[in-house]
Amino acid sequence: MRVVFLGPPGSGKGTQATLLARRLNVPAISTGDMLRLAVSQGTPLGVKAASVMAAGRLVPDDVMIGMIRDRIAMPDAREGFVLDGFPRTVEQALALEGMLEGNGRGVSAVLNLSVPEPAVLDRLAGRSAEEGRSDDGRATVLERLRVYHEQTEPLIGFYRQRGLLADVDGVGEVPEISERIDRALEGRARGVA
Ligand code: AMP
Repeated sequence: MRVVFLGPPGSGKGTQATLLARRLNVPAISTGDMLRLAVSQGTPLGVKAASVMAAGRLVPDDVMIGMIRDRIAMPDAREGFVLDGFPRTVEQALALEGMLEGNGRGVSAVLNLSVPEPAVLDRLAGRSAEEGRSDDGRATVLERLRVYHEQTEPLIGFYRQRGLLADVDGVGEVPEISERIDRALEGRARGVA
């Protein structure tokens, strides 16, 4: 099963992607985590990405596409994966299609976690206080939301058109949302969603 999570920053994608990957016994692949690791290790990529991330902007498509191409080619991703934070642009989505095409192993489902904007802002403010993520400051949060609307939201239509999209209400307790996700995936498997 190859699952993609979509949703604004603060929608709970990371949490739900980790939990779903555990249930499916496949790796959760978070490009944000991979980038934060590169930043903390001070690799050449990390040095370049740090300022882009701190500004709430997107790291260039070619860099991200290369990163995901290498990651999903690893043996642990052979039976599937859950993607969190990729694709974030139509160009990335087209590249992912290209990578998976040809061996009958396209994306299985795309879960769109919807959370109203005020709730997203509350969650991000909470995360900033708790985790001290350097990109959770107010100005950066607003920029990340602007970039989400401009660059990532069009992927909802992109995947809906391909019949892959399942909308999931992202408001509620973590286990409740996990259940909705399982139901959406079962529905898709039966062809009713
Ligand atoms: P996330 O943890 O997914 O919110 O990602 C944190 C930051 O990493 C984003 O605000 C971007 O600066 C960068 N990033 C993560 N994934 C991508 C991607 N697929 N394309 C471009 N930039 C990304």
